[in-house]
Amino acid sequence: MLSEEEHCPLCNAMMSEGEGVDYLTCGRCGTLARFRGGQLDALFIPGYRRRLEELERRNRELLEMIEAEGRKGELRDMRAIRSLHEERQRILSEFSFYSYFQQFLERW
Ligand SMILES: [Zn+2]
Repeated sequence: MLSEEEHCPLCNAMMSEGEGVDYLTCGRCGTLARFRGGQLDALFIPGYRRRLEELERRNRELLEMIEAEGRKGELRDMRAIRSLHEERQRILSEFSFYSYFQQFLERW
């Protein structure tokens, strides 16, 4: 039996059971999840690889922009640098959140 009332591991929306399948579907983000004994067993996340690659690319861009601004020395814009750092923190934290699910995607 599937466990009832499972939330999507990715976006936390309530997941729904499909007919004749052993996994749950998230209507919000399209993630598929299989649970075993109340524990998450396997996941399918649409566009997973692409999102990780996007995050890696954005992280590299931000690093370059931070360096470029820093090279201006006295003329550097500290507020711009701070906001780039903040965006980079968000990117890195989403990257680590996504990366955590790798083990479950491998089991799908
Ligand atoms: Zn979801």
